[in-house]
Amino acid sequence: MARPKYRNKLLTIPSMRKKCNTCGSIKEVQHRHITLPMDLPKTKKFKDYVDMPNTTILNFCSIECAGDDFVNNYSPEDFYQE
Ligand SMILES: [Zn+2]
Repeated sequence: MARPKYRNKLLTIPSMRKKCNTCGSIKEVQHRHITLPMDLPKTKKFKDYVDMPNTTILNFCSIECAGDDFVNNYSPEDFYQE
């Protein structure tokens, strides 16, 4: 069975304090809603999503602030298609 070539570890959320997108308070970021561009360069490596161009990042202090529809529909393989 063919296995995907994707071997990078998932990027983790670095510890940082940012303004929550929902309640507006400055707290440790627990959740981020990240929108990646479809033409994301595949050859480059990034330390964090914030380094990627054209990404939209929303910071949330808690899952409550992130909302009920905070569901990650993407899998890493979606961005590493050949
Ligand atoms: Zn909040």
